[in-house]
Amino acid sequence: MEALAALQKAVDFKDVPRATLEPLAVAMEQCRYASGAVIYQEGDPAEHAYLVESGYVNLTSIKTGGEAGFVVEVGPGSLLGEMTAFTERARTVSAIASTDCVVWRIPVEALRKAVCADPQLAWDMMRSAMELVLEKDLNVIFTRQHASELKRAVDVERQTVSQLRADHQRRDERIAIMAHDVRTPLAVIMGCTQVLRDRWPSLEDKERRRLLESISRQAGGLLGLVQDALEVASIETGELRYDIRPLDMAELVRCLVADLCAADDDLNVVVRVPEELPKALGDEQRHREILFNLLTNAMKFSPRGEPIEVELDVDAEMLTVSVTDHGIGIEPEDVRRIFAKFSRVEQLDGDGLAEGYGLGLYICKSLVEAQGGNIWVESKPGEGPTFKYTLPIAG
Ligand code: ADP
Repeated sequence: MEALAALQKAVDFKDVPRATLEPLAVAMEQCRYASGAVIYQEGDPAEHAYLVESGYVNLTSIKTGGEAGFVVEVGPGSLLGEMTAFTERARTVSAIASTDCVVWRIPVEALRKAVCADPQLAWDMMRSAMELVLEKDLNVIFTRQHASELKRAVDVERQTVSQLRADHQRRDERIAIMAHDVRTPLAVIMGCTQVLRDRWPSLEDKERRRLLESISRQAGGLLGLVQDALEVASIETGELRYDIRPLDMAELVRCLVADLCAADDDLNVVVRVPEELPKALGDEQRHREILFNLLTNAMKFSPRGEPIEVELDVDAEMLTVSVTDHGIGIEPEDVRRIFAKFSRVEQLDGDGLAEGYGLGLYICKSLVEAQGGNIWVESKPGEGPTFKYTLPIAG
């Protein structure tokens, strides 16, 4: 009997006694489907289960929007549609022959009787039904986990991209500013050189000296820009190393002021140091650089000969260095932004528009903070500013 043989080969009925299968076999009807034929359709009422004897069947479900989504392909020995048939629900998938196939149609009533007659068959079918359900749940859990991992990865990726964009933009701005800043002194240098070359014999000594001084000043400015730019690059890549040791700040201030005064007769710097001054902790070279920046700014932004004051002060933990000048001062709205990179306030010093690239205070801030201190400026409109920075006292 063909139906009985088909049942005995089926995964779900392999171990079921012949006595249970025989009445089932009698109720079964053999059907043939050509490739592409519909065996049952999603939404149809479910009255039969189906057993595939030969060929393959696709189970598909219609997704939102009516597109057919492939679920699974089943082959010989597989039972289809029994779950919806048992529960008398509408089909949740469509079964479509993917090759020519032979399929047995089993009335649900006959299947119910066989299951009731054999507890082992009932158990096996329940088990495979539960496995299907669990697998679906596990798939959902896995998909959700996967989706949230993907979302996290996408978020990280987005942050990196926007960070990179911001870095790019900053770099482009920096290059644009530098290109502009480099062009101006180079143009002056070239112009002066050309005049010297073309008109050397007819120029007076005074005129030659003036042109050479211009060249020297512009070249010095360019050198300063290149040095600052290199330093900013090392600060930002974290390459700058600090040699932190106990420091005699009074000695450092006096030496630096003496050097600057030796190079400029008009310079008038008043140094005030308390009698008892503990050593501070810091990198000597970097502190010389910070102080040099603050002092040269004070010189640049105040009239020649006006006194500049440098004062050292100490409390329980920190030593404070103050540099005060009596120049043009800083407007309250500019007090914070002057420490930002490339930040300059368009203003006039004693000789015209002040030269600079807006890197000095940014470098000072980076160097001070990297050594555990703070830097700020106190300025009242109409009065010169006081720049202050701190460094830790040596224990
Ligand atoms: P720059 O090389 O342009 O001077 P800085 O970073 O050293 O760059 O200074 C940034 C800006 O802060 C200056 O362009 C100037 O506007 C302002 N500034 C700094 N020091 C003083 C000062 N002593 N008096 C007035 N303005 C100052």
